[in-house]
Amino acid sequence: MNAAFPMSDQPLKLLVAAPRGFCAGVDRAIEIVELALTRYGTPVYVRHEIVHNRYVVDGLKAKGAVFVDELDEVPDGMPVIFSAHGVPKSVPEKASVRGLNWLDATCPLVSKVHRQAERQVKAGRHILFIGHEGHPEVIGTLGQVVEGSMTLVESLDDVAQFTPPPGRELAYLTQTTLSVDDTAAIIAALKSRFPDIVGPKAEDICYATSNRQAAVKEIAPQCQLVLVIGAPNSSNSMRLFEVAERAGSRSMLIQRADDIDPAWLDNDVAVLGITAGASAPERLVHEVIDRLGELRSVRVEQIVTARETVTFKLPQQLVD
Ligand code: SF4
Repeated sequence: MNAAFPMSDQPLKLLVAAPRGFCAGVDRAIEIVELALTRYGTPVYVRHEIVHNRYVVDGLKAKGAVFVDELDEVPDGMPVIFSAHGVPKSVPEKASVRGLNWLDATCPLVSKVHRQAERQVKAGRHILFIGHEGHPEVIGTLGQVVEGSMTLVESLDDVAQFTPPPGRELAYLTQTTLSVDDTAAIIAALKSRFPDIVGPKAEDICYATSNRQAAVKEIAPQCQLVLVIGAPNSSNSMRLFEVAERAGSRSMLIQRADDIDPAWLDNDVAVLGITAGASAPERLVHEVIDRLGELRSVRVEQIVTARETVTFKLPQQLVD
């Protein structure tokens, strides 16, 4: 216990959100790297962080994965894997031209958005893509269609300022890891401004993102502090942080237990929530609970708002 911050004798109640942590797309991407290492030996190259989590990336590096920014860094003849966020079409095309043995770990739910983008452009529509500029998933999705056929929309202001290309019907699609509430507001604004705009039949925000946000909404109003375990460049972790704050709790984004400042656990904190972004392993959740237990006596309660059974098939090259 830190003497500078006298703690309450009352046990700290920990509300642990469920679902939390790894989703089926992240599980699959990590398994692809591990299977590739077993099948092809070391090193196996991975273009970009396979998922946005340093602990996961460091663990795979230790097993022989080499992470690179661009294909040019992959030597001829070596296997290369594309990350769960997806890549522009030009990347596998370039890999094929070089004769590289490439494997695609793009989450099937991201690939589904890619195919929708192709279909809408083929139908002659201009797409408004709701997402965050610079995120790898956005770069990958924009790169599925001819330049100029998609416009990125990040806010209600962007909707208000958008000038449609003359004579073109409109469609919208979304990044998979957005805030459910913010996205609903942007879609409503799009539909109000462009009543004929075409959208996907079902929500593009993925089940894992929606479920984790719903779980945080459930616990946050009961908490004085919510710890979100995840990386600052992980979109769905950042959204969990925002959802917790909007639901009325102070929130902190942490990557590991070491990031916990004992001063956060002052006497005003009687109930503390814990969740983890879709790229954060369960092991880090246990590490955080253990650390909190060192700082105060704790009582752990899990709040389950949904059960997840989604799994995705592996690429054929790895199961033959
Ligand atoms: S967060 Fe959703 S879209 Fe992203 S990898 Fe997981 S399941 Fe796929």
